[in-house]
Amino acid sequence: MSRIAYVNGRYAPLHDPLITVQDRGFQFADAVYEVWPVRQGLLLDQEGHLARLARSLRELAIAAPMSDAALLVAVKETLRRNRVRDGIVYLQISRGAAATRDHPFPSPRLAPTVVITATRLKPAALEARAATGVKAITTPDLRWGRCDIKTVGLLPNALARQAAKEAGAAEAILVDAQGFITEGAATNVFIVDASGALRTRDLSNALLHGITRASVIKVAEEAQIRLVEAPFTVAEAHAAREVFLTSAGMAATAVIAIDGKAIGDGKPGPVALKLRAAYLEGALVAAKRNAGALVAESGAEKL
Ligand code: PLP
Repeated sequence: MSRIAYVNGRYAPLHDPLITVQDRGFQFADAVYEVWPVRQGLLLDQEGHLARLARSLRELAIAAPMSDAALLVAVKETLRRNRVRDGIVYLQISRGAAATRDHPFPSPRLAPTVVITATRLKPAALEARAATGVKAITTPDLRWGRCDIKTVGLLPNALARQAAKEAGAAEAILVDAQGFITEGAATNVFIVDASGALRTRDLSNALLHGITRASVIKVAEEAQIRLVEAPFTVAEAHAAREVFLTSAGMAATAVIAIDGKAIGDGKPGPVALKLRAAYLEGALVAAKRNAGALVAESGAEKL
């Protein structure tokens, strides 16, 4: 029997491609889920799971896609169609599919994406495992301490960008438990301190190793600007001559105010502007050289 999923009001084979690539669950992990145990054809802890689902949705400002009663009808129908009497029901609700990929929540609100699947488990096997018990290991709690990996687990970044948008800002600068700036929600952060030195946080698991960051550092070294790679605080950023952000999308872009306080004279500073121009120019020259090399490699110039 092929397994059936509920997807946005339709019951379809599990592997049918019914979710678009623009779904924010896929792009940002901007989604919540629940798993119900099912025994003897009945949902266990129904109220507890519905209450936690409602809370998760509320916390992320995702509109409940339907009433609890309607949701339970879909859950039970998914169980029925998959002939699951003992097992689990999986429910996932994402913020929905947006026209463009952008961190903040799209407005107007999207219609949430609702997916339900059901999996049969053998009660005898479950009981046998419970009877023998299970082994466990310990492991560092990495949830989520590996910001150096460019994963799509971007929900915290999306929430930070949303907060920035609501405050009329373009970026949210993230601050760690010790008060040091790690990076932006989708950028790396540099400051130019009172001595004229360029400062950016050193690479670690705490931040994404930005490609633009590395290129801008190279350009700064070529321009003989003194560079310090070490953590700095929000107070140091406020007191800096300049603050700027780097990313593939922004190149190097000056920050003129943080939390409403002007940085320097409240205008893009000379170092940020110079590094931006030098970075773009150098990167373009290198890209043209590479493109030429590619043409030469492919023998296209002989045509
Ligand atoms: N930090 C985070 C969290 C990002 O998501 C990004 C880019 O998306 C960056 C930094 C900048 O990296 P890059 O310069 O490679 O675009």
